[in-house]
Amino acid sequence: MSYLTLKNINKIYPNGYHAVHNFNLEIEKGEFIVFVGPSGCGKSTTLRMIAGLEDISNGEFLINGQRANEWGPREREVAMVFQSYALYPQMTVFDNIAFGLTLQGVDEEVIEEKVKNTAAILGLTDYLDRLPRALSGGQRQRVAIGRAIIRKVGVFLMDEPLSNLDAKQRVTMRSEIAQIHRETGATTIYVTHDQTEAMTLADRIVVMKEGYVQQIGTPYELYMDPVNVFVAGFIGEPPMNFVRGKVAKGCLAFGANTLDLTAKLGNRARQFEGKELVFGFRPEHIELGKREKAYQISADVELTEMLGDNTNVYITTQDQKAILKVDPHDTPEVDSQITFSIPYEHVYLFDGETEEVIK
Ligand code: ADP
Repeated sequence: MSYLTLKNINKIYPNGYHAVHNFNLEIEKGEFIVFVGPSGCGKSTTLRMIAGLEDISNGEFLINGQRANEWGPREREVAMVFQSYALYPQMTVFDNIAFGLTLQGVDEEVIEEKVKNTAAILGLTDYLDRLPRALSGGQRQRVAIGRAIIRKVGVFLMDEPLSNLDAKQRVTMRSEIAQIHRETGATTIYVTHDQTEAMTLADRIVVMKEGYVQQIGTPYELYMDPVNVFVAGFIGEPPMNFVRGKVAKGCLAFGANTLDLTAKLGNRARQFEGKELVFGFRPEHIELGKREKAYQISADVELTEMLGDNTNVYITTQDQKAILKVDPHDTPEVDSQITFSIPYEHVYLFDGETEEVIK
């Protein structure tokens, strides 16, 4: 039996808006689950239904196999960290972290010890006497996390906890959250629109779009085996390149390029004759020049960005655009024409209509 079970969960808001459709997921104890997707796709709504802050319109939420739809947040033993830190401005860091325990009437000595341990994990030991306004954004977020992890709860729910931090603080806090999870082993559900956060933190990722789950899997599974164009384009940075076209005589043609689909699909290429297909490849899976067992594409270089460990090359051919990741030593000249190869095994084909992957 899984620790948490979401069975056909739906959310229809009082105004009739159907924000979450048939959400299904089993979560094991200790897992770090990330809900990811663009703003408005239903991530927070789902998290809030798990927290008990929002009614479940349809479906069942189970904790250790028991129906928990009607349980309040306390009975569910959840702690939530929000993006706005929701700290008490007039209380010190110590009192903010201790707040939950103080409410429960826990012994003062026990509180003191627990706050000190928590502060040590979070690097807040020197700030316990300060008020929140005398802390940086990252420190405030740590206090908010401290307040959540000091209580012994079953599951931590985090809603975009890093979105108010600057880029550098986000990277630091991200690794701290991973560290805290390793140390506490606490089941965590984390909401973000940032695919990098999802990829770096998650044991499993749930990709959502417009209220529907698109795919659930490990970061590696989503990267290697995306089920559709949306997931393929969402996971990975820079994102996967897509070339759209109609299949004629078993080929996809654009600009001066003709890609023979039988090379990838064999006889099955025939069934796509006259249909629209999406040809996908990741920027990092190309090789400059001509290679065996690979599609060759020629294109014009529009722009190059040297990033240190690699160069992003923006290319165009007719109306199709793509980004290639190359070794900085191989950075091509802007306005030159290049030929590159995509090994067949790194090519993804999607149905142009349903946008689902063609295996
Ligand atoms: P996300 O967390 O993925 O950004 P949300 O779960 O916050 O998305 O919202 C999902 C959708 O539900 C959005 O279109 C949002 O406008 C809508 N929504 C959120 N809260 C309410 C509400 N109280 N009443 C009606 N619609 C809502």
